[in-house]
Parts: sequence; C-alpha cells; structure tokens
Amino acid sequence: YCDQPEMFPGVAHFHTLRVNQPSGKYYTSDYLRKLCDLWEFRGSGLTNMHGATGDIVFLGTRTEQLEEIFYELTHNLEQDLGGSGSNLRTPAACLGESRCEWACYDTQEMCHQLTNEYQDELHRPAFPYKFKFKFDGCPNGCVAAIARSDMAFIGTWRDEIRIDQEAVAGYVGGELKPNGGAHAGRDWGPFDIQKEVIDRCPTQCMWMEDGKLQINNKECTRCMHCINVMPRALRIGND
Ligand code: SF4
Ligand code: SF4
Repeated sequence: YCDQPEMFPGVAHFHTLRVNQPSGKYYTSDYLRKLCDLWEFRGSGLTNMHGATGDIVFLGTRTEQLEEIFYELTHNLEQDLGGSGSNLRTPAACLGESRCEWACYDTQEMCHQLTNEYQDELHRPAFPYKFKFKFDGCPNGCVAAIARSDMAFIGTWRDEIRIDQEAVAGYVGGELKPNGGAHAGRDWGPFDIQKEVIDRCPTQCMWMEDGKLQINNKECTRCMHCINVMPRALRIGND
C-alpha cells in the first residue's frame, strides 16, 4: 500500500477487504458484533458500513491476515467475500417482497440467483473494469440501481394503478395524512391534491372528475410520486 514501507512501517500494508452484504441488508447485532470482533483482531477495526457497492468494507490489514480472515468468514460466519477490483461487484437488492408492498418482483431471490450464477466472476477478477448488478423492486429505487449499477433491474407493473376512491376522498378531506404522515410536523396548510399530486405528475396523466381521481395509465411512467403521497389510496398494479 505504501511505496516507502521502510519509512512508514505502520502503513506498509493496508488491504481493503469486502464482505458480501446480506441481501436486503438483513443482519443481526450478534452477526455484526462477530464481524467487528474479527476485524478488531485481524485488521484495523475501521469499517465502512456500507460502501457504495453495498458491501461491508473492512479497511486496512496486513497480507498475512487475509487468508485467516477469509477462512473465518467462510467457515465460521457462513459469509462470503464481496467483489472487489475489475470483476463482478457484489450484487445488491432492496428488501423487496420481504417487507415492502411496492415490490414488483422478488429482488432478494434475483440477487441470490445471480450471485450464485456469477461466483467465478465475483471472486476472480477477469474484466477490464468493474461491473455491477443492482435490484430495485420498484421505481422508488431504494438501492438507486439506475445510478449505481451497470445493469439496473427496476420493478414495474404492466396493468393499471389501483385506486381506492374512498381513500382519495379521505386525503382530500384531511382524514388521511399524505406521505404516510412524514411531513405532519410542517405547517404546509391543508392537503391540496391538485398542487401536490396532479400538477406534479411528470406526464400530466391525472385529473379529477366528479370528485373522483382518474389516471390515463397509458401515459403513466410509473414514477411512484402519486403512490408515495397517497399510499392508502393508490397501489401499484396487480401484474
Ligand atoms: S425500491 Fe421499491 S420495492 Fe424496493 S424497498 Fe424501495 S420502495 Fe420497496
Ligand atoms: S406514477 Fe407518476 S406518472 Fe404515473 S400517474 Fe402517478 S404521478 Fe403520474
């Protein structure tokens, strides 16, 4: 790591090591404690939770520790190394169907399958440059697949947004809080469906007619804005 190791022996080696993050970033505090203990014992103790790829990144260890850490991770923590360098980087998925009603496909399953399929490409750098898969269950993009990967998978629906007109009336009448109450502490006045939903639809494909919300689904780009604002009234399609 340092080209003057005699002068700076403390940073003569400073390997970075990536751990394949659990899909959807589900882990227990016990698991994290074991990872941190391992890194305190065999590395610098410095971590990056999580790196831009999504990996758990361990920062700084010596060459002779690498095999020891790999053995401990794979044999005792049942954990794989992440991808680093010019290879397939560790695929990453949003938590998807395991918790999120907006998931349009099983992101964790797809991430798991492609991780298994491309084990060689993950562990043995053979590409001219890094390559990343990421999986977002819907266009909200919680893992920002479009910005952070070379091949982005973003779930969407083929049919129509489901509308519950009673709940729409609930938002218009103020009984239901927009955005799941996320902005409830702000004094932004009463909810205005025209200003906050219809006018902000990027394709202008929504309108009110006789007190009912209408959507021209052929023009909808599945941006999720209206669904995020009125989640009790609007849902992604069934297909
Ligand atoms: S990307 Fe969509 S499906 Fe995935 S967790 Fe975020 S909101 Fe849910
Ligand atoms: S999802 Fe976006 S584009 Fe589609 S109707 Fe709602 S606001 Fe408009």
